[in-house]
Amino acid sequence: MSERLVVVGGGMAAVRLVEVLGARGYDGAVTVLADEDHAPYNRILLSAVLEGTHGPDALTLRSEQWFADRGVGLRLGARVLEVDREAGEVMLVDGERIGWDRLVLATGSIPTLPPVRGLVRLDGSLHPKVHAFRSLADCRRLDDAVTPGQRAVVVGGGLLGLQVARALTVRGVATEVVEGAPHLLASQLGPAGGRVLARDLRRLGTEVYTGARAVRMTDAGLRLDTGYELSADLVVLTAGGRPSTALARRAGLMVRRGVVVDGSLRSVTDDRVHAIGDCAEHRNRTTGFVPPAWEQAGVLAGVLTGEDAAYDGSRSVARLRATGLDVAVLGDPEHAVGEVVEMTNPIAGSHRTLVVHGGRIVAAALVGDLSRVGLITQLYDRGTVLGPDEPGQLLLGEPAEAPVRLPDDAEVCACAGVSAGAVRACSSFASCREDTRATTGCGGCESVVRRLLGEDLAVPVG
Ligand SMILES: Cc1cc2nc3c(=O)[nH]c(=O)nc-3n(C[C@H](O)[C@H](O)[C@H](O)COP(=O)(O)OP(=O)(O)OC[C@H]3O[C@@H](n4cnc5c(N)ncnc54)[C@H](O)[C@@H]3O)c2cc1C
Repeated sequence: MSERLVVVGGGMAAVRLVEVLGARGYDGAVTVLADEDHAPYNRILLSAVLEGTHGPDALTLRSEQWFADRGVGLRLGARVLEVDREAGEVMLVDGERIGWDRLVLATGSIPTLPPVRGLVRLDGSLHPKVHAFRSLADCRRLDDAVTPGQRAVVVGGGLLGLQVARALTVRGVATEVVEGAPHLLASQLGPAGGRVLARDLRRLGTEVYTGARAVRMTDAGLRLDTGYELSADLVVLTAGGRPSTALARRAGLMVRRGVVVDGSLRSVTDDRVHAIGDCAEHRNRTTGFVPPAWEQAGVLAGVLTGEDAAYDGSRSVARLRATGLDVAVLGDPEHAVGEVVEMTNPIAGSHRTLVVHGGRIVAAALVGDLSRVGLITQLYDRGTVLGPDEPGQLLLGEPAEAPVRLPDDAEVCACAGVSAGAVRACSSFASCREDTRATTGCGGCESVVRRLLGEDLAVPVG
């Protein structure tokens, strides 16, 4: 009998795992147990649905039919309640038990509830004005509640909070962002970059309060610890998340922040169980972004098909996806060791930081002007040693390197790890999306991919 592989969670890591397993000819029987009702979709684009630029169906990564055509059992609305390692079974909420020889936990993360009084009612439900924003169901609920002219407060000024705030502002909702840290995107940017971003947001019509915490829901809206009260018809929680590990913990697997795995993405407690994506912890690190989740899925598919594959950690690349706001962060500029080369132009609303160590770019943050992001990413990826004047020239020099000049081995799509050469080898944009999955993650590479393929930029995405 072939190996029974059960994947818990039908999110972005799970679907990538199934894709790569199929491409590598895995011969086990795969079942995906997904608690959401919608076929696996691109979570990154939820704010685009809220904004109204994408319909919910455009987010689908792979349809139910796609799974069926490949003989993969996709069970939607199937929430796993318990993992029984002794029996080699999982139990769903309705009591059904499903056997497995190998189990993959891809349960993602859950939003953190900030300590705001009145957020949760006595019966455990959220106050009617309050919305989480993690799933398509959350997005639909918020979408239904939005009416132009309303007032909204977004609690949390990280990447997700800014995406949601921009989407609401575009929908005609007067939106304010509250961030407890002294500046926006505090995990990715320093104070100068955060200030430029706040200025850009205000210019686009979104008010920003930093160094202020929401403490209590009131009849009118939300009170801050500064004593200030913001009136709100809608309150959206985007104050971060944590790996979803309750199942693993109850099953007796080692969990610290995430499910602890080794280089084969295998639980250190049980070598029949793996974890990938937001719920996994490798070398004391959890991730929280699509590129590492997809990289882990690719490595695990290699492990399961007998390849000599190992996960060695992911470099971090973060892009903000929000209309009118451009941010790209490579590595960890706030903690990387090196000389900091910075350029801020608050008038133009741009800020660039390079952290350079031994002549190499070890981290970078770009706000407002991403015209050099391709070149900087290439230098960062390759560890190119720069001369003393080059970092400064990169920040000040002529913008816009032409992407058609990118060498074949330059990475174009950070989410799916696709090089310029792999894109050039495709016959069309559609086949490139299908075959390489480039542009199907955050979509930040779409214009470069289209240019590399010589396609008209105005052609809409299918
Ligand atoms: C609104 C939003 C915007 C984002 N924007 C970006 C971005 O711009 N760039 C970026 O790189 N990343 C972004 N992220 C993060 C990115 O979506 C995640 O890193 C990525 O989805 C991780 O994939 P995953 O499969 O580990 O988790 P998920 O995609 O979250 O999937 C996990 C799935 O498992 C299900 N599940 C959990 N427990 C169970 C259970 N017991 N039984 C069955 N199913 C279960 C969950 O409901 C969920 O469907 C964003 C996230 C959100 C919410």
